[in-house]
Amino acid sequence: MSATSYLIDDAGNEPWDVVVIGTGMGGATAGHELARRGRRVLFLEKGPFLFGDTERGPGKVLVNEDDRPEARRARGRWPLPLQGKTSFGEVEFFAPLGTGTGGTSSLYAAQLERFLPSDFEPRQHHPDETDASLPEAWPIRYEELTPYYERAERLYRVSGTPDPLHGCGGESLREPPALSPRDQDLFDSFAQLGLHPYRAHVGYEFVPGCGECGGALCPKRCKSDSGNVALMPALTEHGAKLMVDCEVLALEAGDSRVEQVRFRRGGEERTVRAHVVVLAAGAYMTPLLLLNSTSEQWPDGVANRSGLVGRNLMLHSGDFIAVRPRSNASMVGPKKALALNDFYVSDGKKLGTFQSVGVTVEPGSVMYYLRNQLAMLPRLWLRLLSPLLKIAAYLGAYYFRSAAVLATIVEDLPYADNRIIPDPSAKNGMRFEYRYTDDLRARNGLLRAKLKRALGPNHRVFVLGTDNNINYGHVCGTCRFGDDPATSVLDRDNRAHDVENLYVVDASFFPSSGGTNPSLTIAANAIRVGEVIDGRLGERLEAPQSRESLPVVG
Ligand SMILES: Cc1cc2nc3c(=O)[nH]c(=O)nc-3n(C[C@H](O)[C@H](O)[C@H](O)COP(=O)(O)OP(=O)(O)OC[C@H]3O[C@@H](n4cnc5c(N)ncnc54)[C@H](O)[C@@H]3O)c2cc1C
Repeated sequence: MSATSYLIDDAGNEPWDVVVIGTGMGGATAGHELARRGRRVLFLEKGPFLFGDTERGPGKVLVNEDDRPEARRARGRWPLPLQGKTSFGEVEFFAPLGTGTGGTSSLYAAQLERFLPSDFEPRQHHPDETDASLPEAWPIRYEELTPYYERAERLYRVSGTPDPLHGCGGESLREPPALSPRDQDLFDSFAQLGLHPYRAHVGYEFVPGCGECGGALCPKRCKSDSGNVALMPALTEHGAKLMVDCEVLALEAGDSRVEQVRFRRGGEERTVRAHVVVLAAGAYMTPLLLLNSTSEQWPDGVANRSGLVGRNLMLHSGDFIAVRPRSNASMVGPKKALALNDFYVSDGKKLGTFQSVGVTVEPGSVMYYLRNQLAMLPRLWLRLLSPLLKIAAYLGAYYFRSAAVLATIVEDLPYADNRIIPDPSAKNGMRFEYRYTDDLRARNGLLRAKLKRALGPNHRVFVLGTDNNINYGHVCGTCRFGDDPATSVLDRDNRAHDVENLYVVDASFFPSSGGTNPSLTIAANAIRVGEVIDGRLGERLEAPQSRESLPVVG
């Protein structure tokens, strides 16, 4: 099938079964599920088409990248800086955020871990943090998501071994390639220290020359991102259509339904209609779209009768931690290799996971890391320190050349005052406010200390970084799901309370952030919600003939 047959310019006047806004982890996965079930699906994506003849670059972050908006978009990066205020001051920086087919997953590092069962009952591990708006439990249990985790693991071709402490992952995981001698030694050493390492769960094909791309588009397309795993099959095998360079501006809703979606393309504003609208513009932009969709019926924005749209913004914290191996064994082998959850919950407190980062320590990666750290400081510091970066990068790369770099991910909690705020004068039409709490700082420090103590007998351990270790790439929570319309935006099926045909499937729906990577949970839930929507459409529309013999994919 030629590209032109699925890339369309005109959405037509007939209503689609489903319009999906955003082609990231949530949108592409849900749209794929609906398209393969025979539904007429149209994807609307703000960014460019990154398949076909697109030049995908070297698969890693370059030090002096061209940061002009069009150049950023062409590399799948969000074009404009994000503006906001955190406990560290006013910030303006290029957030780790993707745009275009595959959304942020086209840049991600494909670590596809499940949340643990305890993540679905988040309040129990934070009894004293009473100002956090943390629910006792998610509206769905881990067991309800398990079959969808298995399908997501198959769809995203995840390899790894089960976490021996929690048993998460099993037959749906593929066998990972053999460890490098250095990482095998680390694995054995961690086990000898009484820890429970396992092979990290990752979505790479490991084709010859695989760089386990993170932070950049994968040139070999061996990374399982939502663009190649879900969106492209939906388009090429299941008849879905796609409009790129298409910015959705607002949802126009009556009392209880979205009537049409307003978008801008090529400088022109147009509308499209659908029986169901699936919103998946990511946890920064989805709430903005809802808050901007005001009308007489929805003075505070569509789906915002609770006043919670945009609130409870969560971002993990995390440290890069360099671990010196016991010997100078070869590092040739997979890079995102190890993970352990021994301190996921510790002394009754939820901390989080510890996992290989997947970078080799070289001046380029150190420089990129330092530059990002500085960008999050107030601008004066950036100007004063940037001339020293190159020297620091070379020294750092030399000093840590044989070290393995691992990272922590620490659960962040939801607070109503951490939020997205529309601001037409800001670069993206929005700003964010985020308070880095003492509780998060304390748990972050506790995990550092526990790891240093646990690994200390066999290894030298260095914490790299500052206290400003917010992970802006793991944004979530700004349209939480729950059973009570007064305390949540979405119901247990991710349908907006009070809007019968609107679903949100990106990371916005998380009522708590868990202590590990978010993407597999977004994908598993999107498959679940796709199934629900299909069932509801079946009640409204004539069932397509092909549905009888539907094979299980993923
Ligand atoms: C460098 C990096 C590494 C990461 N590594 C990992 C990892 O290893 N494991 C993991 O689990 N997570 C990782 N993450 C996080 C992960 O990528 C995100 O959590 C996940 O992709 C979010 O999916 P989403 O569906 O919520 O939104 P997104 O993937 O951000 O998708 C949103 C889409 O909506 C589009 N959009 C936005 N506004 C509009 C609009 N108005 N109209 C139309 N379209 C719009 C955007 O262009 C985008 O395509 C990483 C992130 C980064 C940046």
